[in-house]
Parts: sequence; structure tokens; C-alpha cells
Amino acid sequence: MLNIIIFGPPGAGKGTQSTFIKERYDLTYISTGQILRQEMAAGTEIGLHVKEIINKGGLASDEIVTSIIEKFIVNHRDSSGFLFDGFPRTTRQAEILDELFRKYDMKLDGVLSLEVPEEMLIDRMLKRGLTSGRDDDNIESIRYRFIDDNTKTKPVLDYYQNKNVLHDVNGIGEIEDIFANICKIIDSIA
Ligand code: AMP
Repeated sequence: MLNIIIFGPPGAGKGTQSTFIKERYDLTYISTGQILRQEMAAGTEIGLHVKEIINKGGLASDEIVTSIIEKFIVNHRDSSGFLFDGFPRTTRQAEILDELFRKYDMKLDGVLSLEVPEEMLIDRMLKRGLTSGRDDDNIESIRYRFIDDNTKTKPVLDYYQNKNVLHDVNGIGEIEDIFANICKIIDSIA
């Protein structure tokens, strides 16, 4: 079993790289952002609860996202491995993920941290906003997302650095070159 987290600021290319990674390594992909967007579109209780905060660019609560993750793991017990995108986003979520790994007899193999400077990201996300249909791809929400990313999400890197599972990946350049670097890392830990 191979369990990988793809980590990085909003707009770093996590979703794009994930499509290649999950194919190559036959991983079950879970994006908490994608699931939350589906919940919002379907107008579920969770969706209604998180809609305002997500559209503003804030983070959903740790309780909500960790319960989504646990349910997903339980529903995919036959998986040969998971690729987590956009989770964990707080140190508390990382701690809960560790507890879930223990509970379900799983192990974290690596965290891939896509590194891209903030100025490039804002540009990319504004462009993405033209076609993504996402209510949070606008300049106000983007700025708000970076505040949360810097204060609440960046500390997660220290958490994984201390566990010796963190791998930095240069997120600038051609998609294929970034993917090739990611493969080198995964092949060395798999
Ligand atoms: P993403 O698609 O990963 O960019 O996520 C879109 C939005 O969903 C984020 O800006 C947050 O509002 C929310 N979200 C996604 N994942 C998480 C998470 N792990 N914890 C809290 N909020 C999340």
C-alpha cells in the first residue's frame, strides 16, 4: 500500500499533478476541496454549512473534513493506496490523520510539497477563475486563502518535516518535468 499527500498553496498545481500520479501509481484519489464543492452543489447539510466560509476563501472546520476523510477511507478499504489532495490543511488535521492511519492499520509514505512563489499563484488562479466556475477563484477570496495558508496550513510542513516524510518539489516549469521529479521521489520511497 502506498499513501501519499500532495501539499502546496492554492493554485500550486496539486490537482493537475494528482491526475498523473493517481494513474501511474494506481492510487485512490481524494480531494477534500472537490468533495466539499460536490456537497455545496448538491445542497446537502454539510454543503450549506460550509458554503459561506469556502466562497470567502476560509477553511472548513477540522471536524467536517476529517469526518469526510474517515468515511472515504472506510468506503475504500480495498484500495491499494490513497492520494490526499488539499488535506491535511491544519496541524490538527494532520494529527487526526495519524490517528486514522493507526486505526485502519495504514502508514503515510510521503508528503510532496509543491513549491511555487505566491505572485505566480495569484496570476494562475485568476486565470483559472475564468473557466473553473469556482466562486472562490476571485481576488478577494484568493487573498484570504493565502492568509489561511500562511498561518494555518504552512505549519503542517514542520509537522511532516519532523516525521522525516517531507519532500520538496519545484512547482515551476513544464507539467511533465514537475511530474518526472515527483515520480523520482515516489519511486524512491515506494
Ligand atoms: P481546494 O480545492 O483544495 O483548493 O479547496 C477549496 C476550498 O475548500 C478551500 O479553500 C477550503 O475552503 C476548503 N477545503 C478544502 N480542503 C480543506 C481542508 N482540508 N480543511 C479545510 N478546508 C478545506
